[in-house]
Amino acid sequence: MSDNVVETLQFNCTTCPSECLLTVEVERDANGAVVEVRSVTGNNCPRGDTFAHQELTCPMRVLTTTVAVSGGDEALLPVRTAEAIPLELHAQAMDLIRGLVVEAPIRMGDVVLKNLLDTNINLIASMDIDRAQVAN
Ligand code: SF4
Repeated sequence: MSDNVVETLQFNCTTCPSECLLTVEVERDANGAVVEVRSVTGNNCPRGDTFAHQELTCPMRVLTTTVAVSGGDEALLPVRTAEAIPLELHAQAMDLIRGLVVEAPIRMGDVVLKNLLDTNINLIASMDIDRAQVAN
């Protein structure tokens, strides 16, 4: 006899500002792993179905944090991944980013770290930081 269970979840699709409330029926095995996404309803377009499948198999999020700056008029630079990366990589990415120091000046959109953890996604600057003024 199968120990699989079927549960019904509700969460919002965050692909566009409509944020449709999805109702998703999912089958899990005894370890809680997703066996099958059985149905998705509440989505106003096909992207909601894709989002629900991805959310249950490999959820993706944009990572935002800060990195240390050397020689800048600010000590910390806000950064983000240019696109969403797998949520399960966020802790590993934070370990890597924690050790970074970037040199001012920096412009918004500058690549701070290329191909973060082989995701093909770059870590980019979210604001400008100028060089610190040296007092006379
Ligand atoms: S299901 Fe479609 S319309 Fe609804 S939030 Fe997702 S992308 Fe937007």
